[in-house]
Amino acid sequence: MLKSRSIHIQGLVQGVGFRPFIYRLAARYQLKGWVENSNEGVRIEVSGEEKKLHGFIRSISGEAPAASAISNIKITDIPLREFNNFSIKKSEDTSGQITDVSPDIAVCEDCLKDMQEQEHRIDYPFINCTNCGPRFTIIRDLPYDRPMTTMDVFPMCEQCRAEYKDILDRRFHAQPVACNHCGPEYSLHRDGKLITGIRDILTEAGKMITEGKILAMKGLGGFHLACDAQNEQAVDRLRELKNRDGKPFAVMFRDLETARQFAMISEAEEKILSNWQRPIVLIQSAKKLAAGVSQGFSTLGGMLPYLPFHYLLFKNLEQDVIVLTSGNISDEPIIIDNQEALDILGPVTDAVILNNRDIHNRADDSVLRVMNDKPRLIRRSRSWVPRPVVLSMDADGIFACGAELVNCFCIGKDKQAILSQHIGDLKNAETLNFFTESAGRFQKLFRQDTKLMVHDLHPDYLSSRYALESGLPTMAVQHHHAHIAACMLEHGLDEPVIGIALDGVGLGTDGNIWGGEFMICSLEDFKRKHWIEYVAMPGGDMATKEPWRMALSYLIHTYGEDYPILPFLSGVPETSRDLVTQALDKNINAPLTSSTGRLFDAAAALCGLCSISSFHAEAPMRLEGAIAPGETAAYPFSIDQTISTKGIIRGICEDVMNEVPVSLIAARFHNSVINSIFVAAEQMAETTGIRKVVLSGGSFQNKYLLEKLETGFAERKLRSYSPLDFPANDGGIALGQLAIAAARKRSGK
Ligand code: ZN
Ligand code: ZN
Ligand code: FE
Repeated sequence: MLKSRSIHIQGLVQGVGFRPFIYRLAARYQLKGWVENSNEGVRIEVSGEEKKLHGFIRSISGEAPAASAISNIKITDIPLREFNNFSIKKSEDTSGQITDVSPDIAVCEDCLKDMQEQEHRIDYPFINCTNCGPRFTIIRDLPYDRPMTTMDVFPMCEQCRAEYKDILDRRFHAQPVACNHCGPEYSLHRDGKLITGIRDILTEAGKMITEGKILAMKGLGGFHLACDAQNEQAVDRLRELKNRDGKPFAVMFRDLETARQFAMISEAEEKILSNWQRPIVLIQSAKKLAAGVSQGFSTLGGMLPYLPFHYLLFKNLEQDVIVLTSGNISDEPIIIDNQEALDILGPVTDAVILNNRDIHNRADDSVLRVMNDKPRLIRRSRSWVPRPVVLSMDADGIFACGAELVNCFCIGKDKQAILSQHIGDLKNAETLNFFTESAGRFQKLFRQDTKLMVHDLHPDYLSSRYALESGLPTMAVQHHHAHIAACMLEHGLDEPVIGIALDGVGLGTDGNIWGGEFMICSLEDFKRKHWIEYVAMPGGDMATKEPWRMALSYLIHTYGEDYPILPFLSGVPETSRDLVTQALDKNINAPLTSSTGRLFDAAAALCGLCSISSFHAEAPMRLEGAIAPGETAAYPFSIDQTISTKGIIRGICEDVMNEVPVSLIAARFHNSVINSIFVAAEQMAETTGIRKVVLSGGSFQNKYLLEKLETGFAERKLRSYSPLDFPANDGGIALGQLAIAAARKRSGK
């Protein structure tokens, strides 16, 4: 008995080979009809035997391409329709094209098998298919066809072309399709010598890593620096080479099995480690690597192989884990250009492994952390970008410039928001170039006719200047309002909420530096209700780099001149201390701040954990890392309009003087902050009747803080929302700026 069905699939189903996938399924189940892309997702009409229709529908969700995410399938019975065949309808609406840029996808299982079995692709390090391979990193322009990618210089051989044209083949319309006969190749450059041929390269690379050498290797979105993660000397040398940069290094494990030997990995962490995006996941380390990898932290940034080259490398390697850190010196953007790699990384490493497939769009490895069993992005880049967020309002023509230190920008196209890859610290000249270049590329790629530039309230941020110098209409948005709005947008909230922004620093509307803000927020506007009481930030930006300054400021704020002399002060030169005391006294270069990050800095320094910070947010990270789980005690605080921290600071000082273990002090400090947040939020809920609490800002990358808050809010019958797919840190600011501008435009403000 023949039947017909209409099927409507919504979610992230475009640009991921979904239509050919449907075509192949239809052929398998002997169904006739058509599939097409539309602005509202993928539409299908099919006719066939009832049983086969069932199987077809089951397989759609069961076997969907890895990079797709189906949010909804709607199936409708329709009167019997007769079709001659099954076809892919050309999409008529070209504006829908913009969603057709897929993020990059880790090599799939089928391709790994082909790499061992398919004659023309044995050990071929660029193997890919419609379900996997490079996308965003190689695309120059739309439509996404081979001539528009950096694969344009490699004409397909007969065999590849045949696969590319065969709709029943897994490589049908796989734009980067290639093989040993026709595609790009690797080369290894060592001491002016050139090694070609993948087998020789792998043998040499494997040998060098075992010997403790450092390699620069071209990856998907940029170069990496690699060495044996258990070789102390190699890791120390790598650290020196990276210059000033004190951040822990990421590592790559041979496979999940090995990862389990080196770290304690939860089920949720396993799942995200091995999914098609292959991010760096912050996990609890268990077995020792070289000390220089983690820099004393008990967490470890680990990832699994995602390029065919990674798999081939491990096959030729004794080691089970290698350091794989971004190929750059200090804070500069990750290197993507072959010549630049040879010039800059060549002299400081032992060999450079290149390939001749150009990277067009730079993308760092994405980083995430699982908290309360949910993955949360910390750095959103490779394999996430340029996935759009669908809004309920029009955002067309809006360009949001983001913050300055951890910059991403965001562009609005119709009802979509597209956040850029992680750009970085704009104060670095190369990074600023990366920002302007990428901004131009996004505007071109997504055909944006920019009409409004949205920027941070801080006029001196280089991102704000970019807006202000553009000659286009501009709109300034307060930093913490943007943090909350980004999270609201992600969760589809469009109503007044209690917004709690705990953060580093952002300019407030009163000219002071905010960062511990309790607000009633809508997308359009906000009212500040409570904040952490102001203290001075002696030396301005210097206070961020030198947490001892905040500790001293908090001591004087709490005790006056007769503050207790804690051990950490002995590490501070007398002259520096005097200078800061005078600056505080005379109010010179000592702006006021309610920043949570600076409060955490002070607490970490008071405990002797971090007086000088060697990378952004080191002190709060060390404080969190020190926590003894299970400690429930807390220090007293008081709240009226501001949250007074004097009781907390006194509590820490007394404990330090009584030689209470740092692990307990760290826990008590966190507990105190958490308690004060509950009190403030409950007061706000009571006076306004609002039961939804939105948590955003850099401090929510702190696992202890976020997990305890989420659990506690649930117990208090308050519904809490926190960032998942977009960073809680300043990497999410641009999304919030865009949401605010779109909402104001909607309501005519
Ligand atoms: Zn594949
Ligand atoms: Zn070929
Ligand atoms: Fe911020």
